[in-house]
Amino acid sequence: MKKDITTFGEIVLSKKVLAAISDMGFEEPSPIQSQTIPLVLEGHDVIGQAQTGTGKTAAFGIPTIERIIDGNRHIQALVLTPTRELAIQISEEFTKIGKYKKVKTLPIYGGQSIDRQIRALKYGVQIVIGTPGRLLDHIRRNTIKLNAVKTLILDEADEMLDMGFVDDIEAILEQLSSTERQTLLFSATMPAPIAKLAEKYMTNPKKVTISRENLTVPLIDQIYYETREKLEGLCRVLDVEETGKIIIFCRTKKGVDDLVASLQARGYMSDGLHGDLSQSQRDRVMKKFRDGKLEILVATDVAARGIDIDDITHVVNYDIPQDHESYVHRIGRTGRAGKKGVAITFIEPREYRQLKLIERLAKTKLVRKQLPSSADILE
Ligand code: ADP
Ligand code: MG
Repeated sequence: MKKDITTFGEIVLSKKVLAAISDMGFEEPSPIQSQTIPLVLEGHDVIGQAQTGTGKTAAFGIPTIERIIDGNRHIQALVLTPTRELAIQISEEFTKIGKYKKVKTLPIYGGQSIDRQIRALKYGVQIVIGTPGRLLDHIRRNTIKLNAVKTLILDEADEMLDMGFVDDIEAILEQLSSTERQTLLFSATMPAPIAKLAEKYMTNPKKVTISRENLTVPLIDQIYYETREKLEGLCRVLDVEETGKIIIFCRTKKGVDDLVASLQARGYMSDGLHGDLSQSQRDRVMKKFRDGKLEILVATDVAARGIDIDDITHVVNYDIPQDHESYVHRIGRTGRAGKKGVAITFIEPREYRQLKLIERLAKTKLVRKQLPSSADILE
């Protein structure tokens, strides 16, 4: 049996990369990272499967950057990813990991001036992170040279296939020398077409699967209710749910004040937190909440930033978050320290599309539920 790796220091990494990881605040490798990084460093083709949010980017980013030859200004690694947002995000994370190695990365995606990208490519980059369509565009225009690519990474492979990129991906793979190439494939799920792709383009890949049970990510039940009567809906939910500490998010300061007034008038122990309160008022509210003298904290996103309380059982989005990042941020306040949490989102019918967008971008799924009826409450 191979001994489990529990620190980054146990993996053979250069001082520069270890220092960068430490600067990023990563204290220990996640399960997918501790299992795949050594394999990638050894030069294997690797298939890594783990749920969203488990650190797959650094799982391929750390060893790939470790293997970049300093000073060599050819494209040594190529990452394919489904969306422009992901390309940028990966590029940012790679830049952090490669900070002391001074690794040059460039995201390439549709919607940005191709001339700007051509100029950047001419300047010399070591890692390109691109969406399939735009990359193929560069290949066809002969504005990108891929003959020095040693590592090819397919990130979020399931998403790329869902988005219909399979032909583009194959066209790109055909361009790369297959004898010299190391191929890495990362995905949250492994449907049959991906297995087929892997079989066709990978050489004796090592497979690492992190099952749900092995995840350290918190368990959060994500629910949504669609209603035109949010206040009524919220009160019914509060009455039937078994709750501990609850944080409710509103979009505006006035929204916070109004909801606190409504809840207090109905007998719910609640108070508000937003930027118009003085520091001492805020401290007082937080102390009450921390000490369990206040059941419900109603807050704006900004005011709730940095709140670190462990035993919050419910996060309620009384107003739908502006974007998926805010959603992930908000719900991350529950389900900590291995405890189960519940995240409830209220939407009005016209906000359905926004909810679906958040779901897609946050790569998560909210379960639609019917509001409890008054009969449920009487029981
Ligand atoms: P995935 O691709 O599996 O969905 P990401 O690579 O986007 O996940 O990582 C999710 C989050 O976890 C990111 O914010 C990332 O910075 C953070 N993260 C990754 N690895 C670690 C680690 N070892 N320690 C702490 N945070 C980490
Ligand atoms: Mg990812």
